[in-house]
Amino acid sequence: MRLEDNIQNIKGIGEKTAQQFGRLGISTVGDLITYYPRSYKKYSEPVSVAEVSEGDRVAVFCKVVSYVEERRGRRYNITSLSASDSTGSLRMVWFNKPYLKSQFHKGESYIFYGTIKIKGPMRVMEMPEFFTQFNYQKMLSTLRPIYPLKSGITNNSITRAIEQLRDTVLTLHDYLPEDIIEQYGLMRRGEAIMRIHFPDDEEGLKDAIKRIALDEFLEFLINVRKLKEKTVVESNHHKINDEAKVKRDGFIAGLPFSLTEGQKAAVEDITRDLESDYMMSRLIQGDVGSGKTVVAVIALLMNAISGYQGALMVPTEVLAMQHYEDISKMLKPYKITVRLLTGSMTAKDKRTVYQELKDGICDIVIGTHAIIQDATEFKELGLVITDEQHRFGVKQREKLAEKGDMPNILIMSATPIPRTLAIILYADMDISVIKDMPADRKSIYNCVVGTDYRPAAYKFLRERVGAGEQVYVICPMVEESETVDAENVINYSEDLQEKLGSGVRVSYLHGKMKESEKHEILENFVKRDIDVLVSTTVIEVGINNPNATVMMIENAERFGLAQLHQLRGRVGRGSLQSYCIFINVKKTEESMERLKVLEESNDGFFIASEDLRLRGPGDFFGIRQSGDLNFRIADIYKHADMLRLAQDLSLIIDDI
Ligand code: ADP
Ligand code: MG
Repeated sequence: MRLEDNIQNIKGIGEKTAQQFGRLGISTVGDLITYYPRSYKKYSEPVSVAEVSEGDRVAVFCKVVSYVEERRGRRYNITSLSASDSTGSLRMVWFNKPYLKSQFHKGESYIFYGTIKIKGPMRVMEMPEFFTQFNYQKMLSTLRPIYPLKSGITNNSITRAIEQLRDTVLTLHDYLPEDIIEQYGLMRRGEAIMRIHFPDDEEGLKDAIKRIALDEFLEFLINVRKLKEKTVVESNHHKINDEAKVKRDGFIAGLPFSLTEGQKAAVEDITRDLESDYMMSRLIQGDVGSGKTVVAVIALLMNAISGYQGALMVPTEVLAMQHYEDISKMLKPYKITVRLLTGSMTAKDKRTVYQELKDGICDIVIGTHAIIQDATEFKELGLVITDEQHRFGVKQREKLAEKGDMPNILIMSATPIPRTLAIILYADMDISVIKDMPADRKSIYNCVVGTDYRPAAYKFLRERVGAGEQVYVICPMVEESETVDAENVINYSEDLQEKLGSGVRVSYLHGKMKESEKHEILENFVKRDIDVLVSTTVIEVGINNPNATVMMIENAERFGLAQLHQLRGRVGRGSLQSYCIFINVKKTEESMERLKVLEESNDGFFIASEDLRLRGPGDFFGIRQSGDLNFRIADIYKHADMLRLAQDLSLIIDDI
C-alpha cells in the first residue's frame, strides 16, 4: 500500500468507518500512520490492598471471595463481587456488564486494575479491567497508545487499522543516508512510526519520538531553506520615500507614550530594511505585552505613505477585529483606507474588499488567513506582516509572500525562543528582539488557589469593577458537556451574573458565536460597557484592553504553561496594577508544581524553560502547547539537538 492510498483500502474499513475517520482528518494511509497517540497507558506493578487510597489508579492481585452479585439499579445493571489479598479486601463493581457474572468464580485469583473510590465504609474499584497473572506480567512493560478521539471512532479501531499497515510502514523508504543513521544512533523512519504507535518500552518510545522530531524539523527547515533561496537576494521593489520617514516621526511624537529602547531599535531596523536595496525579511520577537503592534503600525504607515498596500495577517478572527479597530483609529489622521477581511464575513462584504484591494482603494487589509485565499489580488502589495507567527506554518507565510511582487516581509512572535534556536528556525530572516517592557508597567500579582477561594475572588472582582476596572474570566468549555468535567462559559457567566448582582455587567464570548456577535462583544468590552467578560481561550492571543486588570482562569490545570502565560498576558497591559488568579480545580501534585511556576514568574523565557524541566524525560508529550510552531511531535526545547542536526541535513537533503 502507498501512503497516498485511501484508507478504504485497509481491510475492515468500509465507507462508514472511513467517514468517521474523516472527521479526525484521516483520509489516506499517510494521514493514519501520522495520527499519533496523545499519551500512553502504562500498567503498573500490583500493590497490596492495604496500600491503596482513594483516587489511586492501581493494580491489585486478589482472590474472588464472594459470589458474583447482580442487581438492577435505577440507571444501571450492577455486577459486583468481593476480592481480597492477605492485607485487605475491595469491592469490584461494574455497570451494565451483565455478561461478567459467568466470568468469575469464588476462589479464582486475578489482577484487577482500576481507580479506587471510598463509598461509606467500603473501598471500591469501579469498572476494573482484569487479567490473569500470566497475561498481566506480559503487559507490564508495554505502553498502550491513547489517541485523541471524536465520537464514533474507538481507540481500538485506530490501533487495529494501524496494525494492518505494519508491513507498509516498516518498509517505508528512509531518505536519511545510512552513515547518518549510524553516526547518530537514529531509528529508521518506518520503525519509528510503528514504535510511536506501539512502543515496546519507554526507551524505544523516546528513540522513536526523537526520530520523528528530526523528520518534522527537517521538513520545516527544507521549506525554510527554499524560502530563503527564493527571497534572500531579491531586490527591494517597494522602497519607502522620505515623506514616509517624516510621517513616521510625526506618528511617534503623537503617541501617548514614548517607545521603549527595544521598540525604537526595531523601528530603526525596519526603516533601514525598507530603504535598502534588498527586500526585507524580518522577525520581531517580544514577550506578550512588549508592544509589537505599534511597531507593525509604523511599518504599515511608512509603506502606505510610500504608495504601497500592506497586509496584516493574524491567527484568530477576534484578534483581526481588534487590530482593525485599533489600527484604524491610530491611522485616522492620515489618508489611509483600512479594511477588515475574515472568513466568516458575508460573501458580499468579502467581494467588496477584494475589489478594493484589486483597485488599490484599500491601503491596508487586516485579517485572518482569508487574506491568502486565491480570490485576493492586490494592486501593489508592498508589505506583508504576520502577527503571532508561531500559529502559522511556513507554507502560509510563503503563500502570503507570493501574493504580490516580492513584498517586504515582517513577522511577529511572542514565543520565547532562545536566540540560537531562533536563528535556525527563522534562517530566512533577520531578527529584532524587544527585550524591555514599557516603563509604566507594574509586575502582575499572581495567585494559585483552589475552588474554595472563589467567594473571595468574586468579592475582589466586584471591588476592581467598582474602581472602574475590568475583568476576564476564562473557562475551558463553551457549554456543558457530558463527558468533560470542566467549567463552561455559558453556565458560568449566568452564575457569575447572579453572584455579582445587577450592578456588575457580565457578558460572554466564545468561538462558536457569529462574527457580528463576537465583534459587538469585543467592542463593548473595550468601550467599557461590559465589566466582566467570561470567555474561552479565543481571547488567548493578541487581545488588548489595558483597562482590564484581573484575569481569573478556571480549571487552570487543564492548560499548558505557555498558554497560561499568553492568557495572563491579556492583563498588565497598561499602567494599572494587574492580577491573575489561577483556579486549580484538580489539585494534583503535578498541577500544583506547574502552576507554581506562573505564580513565581512573569517572564516568558523562564516559564518555557521550567515547562521543559517539569515535563521531564518520561512525560512524552505534556499538554500540547499553542506556541509550538505547529510541530506535532517535535519540541524545539526538548529536541534542540535534533533541530541542530536537521539544520545541517536541510542543506544536503531536498525532500523527505
Ligand atoms: P504585544 O507585544 O503583546 O502585541 P501590544 O502591542 O498589544 O503588545 O501592546 C500592549 C499595550 O501596550 C497596548 O495597550 C499598547 O498601546 C501599549 N504600549 C505599547 N508600547 C508602549 C510603550 N512604549 N509605553 C507604554 N505603553 C505601550
Ligand atoms: Mg500582539
